[in-house]
Amino acid sequence: EFQAISIPVLAKSKYSGCLVLFQDISKTLEGEKMQKRFIADASHELKTPISVLKGMVEILNRDDFDDPITEKEFLSQMAKEVQRLDVLVKDLLQLSRLSLSNVILEREKCDVCALFDKACDSLWKNAQKKQLNIQKDYQTLEYAFCDPKRMLQVILNLLSNAIKYSDSGTITLRTRMETTYYILEVEDEGCGIQKKDMEKIFDRFYRVDDARSRQSGGSGLGLPIVRSIIEAHGGNIEVESTYGKGTLFRIKLKN
Ligand code: ADP
Repeated sequence: EFQAISIPVLAKSKYSGCLVLFQDISKTLEGEKMQKRFIADASHELKTPISVLKGMVEILNRDDFDDPITEKEFLSQMAKEVQRLDVLVKDLLQLSRLSLSNVILEREKCDVCALFDKACDSLWKNAQKKQLNIQKDYQTLEYAFCDPKRMLQVILNLLSNAIKYSDSGTITLRTRMETTYYILEVEDEGCGIQKKDMEKIFDRFYRVDDARSRQSGGSGLGLPIVRSIIEAHGGNIEVESTYGKGTLFRIKLKN
């Protein structure tokens, strides 16, 4: 798509022609379209828990409402919806900060294996509930040059996905060096991802199994956040998966 700008050309104070500039604005339009889509999707995601809360508050507020069992059920459902909103708003804020071009990373020499250990400590209960085994395969003692807080967020997102999308088996956490690249891997033996979904999983709010994602409190923004953080580091993320067998996420950071 082009935008034309015409500039009159004067010679000796007289109109002698016209200069027409064509500017390619497809990228700007594409950006605007994506932003509109994002706002529409985000509003939709926010609306769902808000409607549930609204409906329940209305019922609980009725003068003739007098059912302690339903009241308890409603309150526990409402707590879940509030938690969902909390995660969603936090993730939205984080993603919008990351999409600014001037993301400030606080990079330092960082022990990624220690970050993996920290993530395991905070998620082991979730893994234990499903009797999942977490195996550590750390093959390097080198440091990675990265922002530790953001890298912990990446690892937490990948590990919690591995737990969410597995019903049994082992989750393996790996670190190693490949020439000058620091490699981190999170591999699971979970439900896997079909070929047709592989590219879309990094899109905002894309969920292969909507019910499963929502059930486990997913905002649909975990992988987009992961990708933004890795790209801000100048690194890249790959995914390999066999449907029904498991998934491997691999991050490469240039050291
Ligand atoms: P969600 O909050 O839904 O987990 P994500 O952005 O983290 O959002 O992931 C997007 C989708 O990618 C998920 O809904 C799920 O369908 C798929 N996915 C992510 N990680 C895995 C995994 N380890 N195994 C299988 N599917 C996965």
